[in-house]
Parts: sequence; C-alpha cells; structure tokens
Amino acid sequence: MTGTIAAIATPLGTGGMAVIRMSGPAAIARAGQVFVPIRGKRPEDMDGYTCAYGHILEDGTRLDDVVLTVFRAPHSYTGEDVVEVSCHGGRYVSEQILRALLCDEVRLAEAGEFTKRAFLNGKLSLTQAEAVADVIGAAGENALRAARALREGATYRRISALGQRLLEMLSDLAVWADYPDEDIPDVDGGALERRLAALQQDMQSLLATYDRGRILREGMHTVIAGKPNVGKSTLFNALAGFERSIVTDIAGTTRDVVEEQIRIGGMTLRLSDTAGVRETDGTVERIGVERSLRSLEEADLVLAVFDMSRPFDAEDAALLERLPRERCICVCNKTDLDRQLAQLPEGFADTVAISAKTEDNMAALADAVTRFAAARAVNAEDGMIANERQRDCLREAAAAVAEAQDALAMGLAYDAVTVSLDAAADALLRLTGERVTDRVVDTVFARFCVGK
Ligand code: GDP
Repeated sequence: MTGTIAAIATPLGTGGMAVIRMSGPAAIARAGQVFVPIRGKRPEDMDGYTCAYGHILEDGTRLDDVVLTVFRAPHSYTGEDVVEVSCHGGRYVSEQILRALLCDEVRLAEAGEFTKRAFLNGKLSLTQAEAVADVIGAAGENALRAARALREGATYRRISALGQRLLEMLSDLAVWADYPDEDIPDVDGGALERRLAALQQDMQSLLATYDRGRILREGMHTVIAGKPNVGKSTLFNALAGFERSIVTDIAGTTRDVVEEQIRIGGMTLRLSDTAGVRETDGTVERIGVERSLRSLEEADLVLAVFDMSRPFDAEDAALLERLPRERCICVCNKTDLDRQLAQLPEGFADTVAISAKTEDNMAALADAVTRFAAARAVNAEDGMIANERQRDCLREAAAAVAEAQDALAMGLAYDAVTVSLDAAADALLRLTGERVTDRVVDTVFARFCVGK
C-alpha cells in the first residue's frame, strides 16, 4: 500500500462542515500547491498538530475558505503525513475540493484505506481497527459503548494476556527441551495441566462473550406472545410508535411475522409481532402459530401478554406451559378495564402491569426491558469477541489448547504439547492481527466506508 490518498471523511450531504482528508508522503506538498494561507505559514512550513486559515485555489478560482490541519508522520491517525481540510459542509463544495486535491501523486482512497494504513503502521491492532467500523455502524448507545471499548483496546489486552500465558508455558517447555543436560528441574506435568485447564476456561469464557455480545450488536430478538385478543398488536404498536401490524377484534388475524426495531434505554429490540400462540385448525393461521412457537425458542426476550380484564383460562395455561419463563417479561395488559385476572402468573424474569391502549405504565415496561438487557449483555469494557473472524481465531486457539491437554493426559512427549501450544499462539496472533495474511486484512477493511 503506497502513494498518497484522499477522501471526504464526513458523510455526504449538507452539514455545517465537511472534512477532506489526505494521507501519504505527498500530502503536505500537495496541500502547498492548492492552499493559499490568508496569513501565516504554508503547509510545508507548518508543524504537526497546527492549523492555518486560508482558501483552496483551483485554476485561479477560489473554491472555499477552509481550515487546514497538518499532522506529521508518525503522529497522525494513519502514521503518515496527513492533511485535513475543513470546509463548509455541502456535497458540491467538498467534492470540488477533493477533486482539486487529486493529481498524479494523490489518488482517491479505497473504503477503509486510512484505517488500514493505521493498522499496517502499527497504530491500531486489528481488533481495534474492526471496532472503528463498529463505532461508525453502531445502532444504539450500548452498541456504541461496546465498540468504543474495543477501540480502546479492551479485547486486544485480554487476548494478549492469554497469549502471554501461552508463551510462558512454551518457554518453560523450551528451556527443558533445549537444555536436557543442564540441571533444570523437570517440567511439572501436574502444574502444566492446571495452567492449561485455567487457560482453556478463560478462552471459553471469552468465546461466550460472542453470543452474549450479539444482543449488543444486533439488538435483542424480541417476541410478543399471548393468546388472541390480549392486546399483542396494540402493545407492538405502542412500542413501535406507529400502526404497523393489523389490530382487530376478530381472533387470529395477525398472521404474519412483522418485524420492527425500536430503541429502549440504549438497547435495540428487534420486535416480531407474531400470530397468537394457540391451537388452531385454520391452515394459514397454523403456519403463523408454528412460526411463533419456533420464534419463542429463538427469542432473546419474550413479552408474554395476559389480559387482566378476563379470568385466566385453559388457553393462557397452555401458553404458560410453553413459555421460556426465565427469558420472559410477563405483561399484564388492560389495566384500564375492571380486573378479572385474580392471580398473576409466576416464575418470570419480571412482571409489569400496563394498558397498551392508553399507554399507561409503558415506562415501567421500558425499565423492565432495560434491566433484563443489562443482566444479560456482556460488559464490553472487559473485552469481548466482536465478530466471526475473531471468534473463529479464538475457537482455533481453544481447540489447539484442548489438543495440548489431550496430549498431556495421554502421556505423550512434551514435544506434542509444544506443537499444539504453538498453533494456539499463532491463532491468537492472527486474531489481533500481529500475524495475518493480506487477504484477511483486505476482508476486514472492505466493510469500511470511504474516508475512514
Ligand atoms: P392481539 O390479538 O393480541 O394482537 O390483540 P389486539 O392488539 O388486536 O387487541 C384486541 C382488542 O383489545 C382490540 O380491540 C384492542 O383495542 C383491545 N385492547 C388492547 N389493549 C388494550 C388495553 O390495554 N385496554 C383496553 N381497554 N383494550 C385493549
């Protein structure tokens, strides 16, 4: 990856300001050719981390008043010479300035190329670079917090600590293998076994953050369940903030799964309104019912709705049987009507009484959802596995450690243990990007937008 690149770093469209970024060996010289300072220094004479006010000139035409900031290698985002031009927001003017910067020495950046250079110049680990894309793409506050923690290196530190432990074991084994004649105490097989078991356990708990982190990345898959007419569609609409699924008095008319994303207290819910869960003869509806029973199994959160204005009946009881209650918030609906439901069903993660129709007590439901999510989401500040690439590398490392454990248990020579631990260390280095192929790097950065 060579040459100097440029791109508009801010989103295209109208805004107060736009930033055009240029990085590479020719960046400062090129800025000197098109930037005319009002007063003060030319870019070539500016120190790093300083800025100058002036205008961009193209073929004698003033394109815009700008502020130009110079960063000198290696003290920049990419580790190269970088120039940032802050101009007035607006697609037309920022594109004009970008065009003015492009020349034989300066080409348009590819998606993610700035961050790729930062990685290749050792400014970021691969997990940190991946987090940059996550920060940009983060859908909710919690997802953003998670991405930020990764960006700050939480995962990298956790992986490095695992790698360090592997290296210590490898060096103990190497000393023993390389100096058999010296008076070095034998490798303590029992202690090694315990260290491997502890390492395996820590790898597994880090692996588990991938599944638990999914609700941060994607939002919680949420299903509203309940027999017909308890108010599922009404609740769905109250949560979604607008009419989306069909609300009706005729039992069984919500036949399809409609999905909506809503945000509650920093958490994204992916909400499906499903056909009422009940035994049925209608074929069309049965498809919906089967689908909703399946979605109960797959859901992160089930909002189980009961109608408080009616006595508890056999259908409610049948539903209760099928509910994964530890993943359910029990929603007792229709508090605006006279209460007939004598005793609230029990055993749920939480229980809230609301009126979906008058939207009474919806804040308490939101609180219950927030508590539910907080208890299940990972704490990103401790480091987490954020994507499949990272998970695959860690799985590979854990499998290699398991091989080492087996080798030890079977009484094989320590050489066999060393080979497996080497493979584990290698997988961890690939995870953080310290030993990685060009193809992997290209795949990681292909997710980025241009200008980042
Ligand atoms: P679903 O079959 O479970 O989706 O139920 P709907 O949302 O279609 O609601 C069935 C009926 O109950 C409709 O007439 C709604 O207006 C009514 N309903 C839903 N929630 C409430 C509520 O909190 N209070 C009252 N009074 N009526 C409600």
